[in-house]
Amino acid sequence: MGRSTRKEAGVSRRAFIRRGATAGVGATALAGVGARGAEAQNFWDVSADFVTIGAGTAGLAAAVSALDHGASVIMLEENVDIGGHGMCSGGNVHLGGGTSNQRKHGVEDSAEQVYRDWVRHDHMQSRYSDRDLVRAFADENAPTFEFLIENGVQFQDHLVGPTGASQVRRQQRTVQWPVASERVTHHETRVGSGLVRALEKSARAKGAQVLLRHKMTSIVRESPSAGRVLGVTAVHDGRTVNVRALKGLLVATGGSTSNVNLRRTFDPRLTEEYQVAGEPWSRQSGDGELAAMAVGASLWGTANQTVEAGIAISKTRHIGCQWGYSSLIWQPNARIFDLARASGLTVTDWQDVILVNQLGRRFWSETDARYDFFAAAMADIGDESKRNGGGAIWAVFDHDAVEREGWDPQPPNVDPDGFFFSADTIAELAAAIANPFQAKPMPAAALEETVARYNQFVDAGEDADFGKPNPRYKVQTPPFYAAWSTPILHDSLTGLRTNPRAQVVDIHGDVIPGLYCAGESQGGFAQHGLGRCLVFGRIAGRDAAVNGGNA
Ligand SMILES: Cc1cc2nc3c(=O)[nH]c(=O)nc-3n(C[C@H](O)[C@H](O)[C@H](O)COP(=O)(O)OP(=O)(O)OC[C@H]3O[C@@H](n4cnc5c(N)ncnc54)[C@H](O)[C@@H]3O)c2cc1C
Repeated sequence: MGRSTRKEAGVSRRAFIRRGATAGVGATALAGVGARGAEAQNFWDVSADFVTIGAGTAGLAAAVSALDHGASVIMLEENVDIGGHGMCSGGNVHLGGGTSNQRKHGVEDSAEQVYRDWVRHDHMQSRYSDRDLVRAFADENAPTFEFLIENGVQFQDHLVGPTGASQVRRQQRTVQWPVASERVTHHETRVGSGLVRALEKSARAKGAQVLLRHKMTSIVRESPSAGRVLGVTAVHDGRTVNVRALKGLLVATGGSTSNVNLRRTFDPRLTEEYQVAGEPWSRQSGDGELAAMAVGASLWGTANQTVEAGIAISKTRHIGCQWGYSSLIWQPNARIFDLARASGLTVTDWQDVILVNQLGRRFWSETDARYDFFAAAMADIGDESKRNGGGAIWAVFDHDAVEREGWDPQPPNVDPDGFFFSADTIAELAAAIANPFQAKPMPAAALEETVARYNQFVDAGEDADFGKPNPRYKVQTPPFYAAWSTPILHDSLTGLRTNPRAQVVDIHGDVIPGLYCAGESQGGFAQHGLGRCLVFGRIAGRDAAVNGGNA
């Protein structure tokens, strides 16, 4: 097959959509006929030098980088819009190594210092990292920051930190995208729109074609375990689209925490009750990891997912809604509020509630937010019907707590459709709780006993069960409330094995020609968030354009 041109990549959707085919059939057939046969059968609907699966943080950085090096680009995105988790993120970009911003703020830094910090043995985010990946990350830190500036990303005029394993200030926050209708949420802290929209604008201006609502279903390799990766099969409006990637295909599907089966590979406790921050906007689908493994890819650094640092799982601050992460609040004017359904009640003082499991029992001190809290929430609760995962966690409180917190416990603040309940007695409250993740009804007598015992602790000034410091308020004045408060998942800290060029590696340690991975789907480096996604996305796009996916 000849080299693709931007014109080829720009073929209209109507022209290349294969009607009537079913997803996956084409890919299977191709493995049998080989690349040449496939070409003869006119298998491909559209082609480009570089194809990204996912148009989030890593995919966008990779696309711009590949375009800068002369490649044509197609981005496949299952969502209705670009951005992924990057769109609703706080936009705190962790990049240093001697950037222009660091110099402006008088921070001394170097690639060597970045490397030293991110291989520290005494920090959870760096201890289990692949040092070859960290070396590449360190060397590309400052250039990646300048790349963002060159491509229109604007930053607020300050540096934050040190954060994570970094020992100097390296974190800077983007400026929110100015067009309100092109954001997903409008909260002043959700400024990640400024990062992904600027990269999208640049990628489109340089010629990228973005195919929205195209869900990747399989990766096409010459044979299932050998040869070159040739492209990808996607589904759009129920139709199969086969996309040829001439120089490289990038897995940038954002990690695996939305995939219960795959995430339990890394931590068997993470059963279905745990929701994912960033949903319902976009999924950390695990699709890229699974499709890549189906053609021979290997996982890497899986221990990182269970480091007990609290980055992978977090305590919700916005209770009574399904997706109550610590900083993300779905406001009623958010673009997808019909999906999110409620904003949640923001807890300012954990003394105002008690937290109980699905059996109506307290399990830990409510004021604690260390990993011990999560371990207790996910522990075996002694219920035969629920051995893995700790089940639903509910915040139980009374009218007085509502007054103290200044809450309005009504929609759209709360979601009465399974995530928020009220009643005039504790027993009625237990009976009212009906939620898909509450395996069986909460025993009313147990919740009554829990509340009575806790109220005694308040009288005594001491929590004899879990050591909550100076338990302050009784749960005594009706109406009583139960609000969804189950810990919520966040980062994928493991994924596919790659080399420092972001090329995917198989179980034998060999490069799979033509296949790249970046972002939270990439394993081996447990840094939280945008920094590593941007760096390895940029590396992947450049490498594919320059080296064509060859080892
Ligand atoms: C609420 C929140 C706040 C955050 N704040 C920060 C912060 O301040 N600083 C920081 O550093 N990090 C932050 N993060 C983390 C950061 O946003 C992510 O680490 C980063 O966006 C991950 O980039 P990615 O490209 O791997 O995935 P994403 O940006 O999520 O992109 C993945 C894309 O792949 C698409 N996709 C998935 N499956 C398929 C498929 N089968 N076919 C086609 N497309 C598919 C998804 O729809 C998505 O658009 C935050 C995350 C959240 C959720």
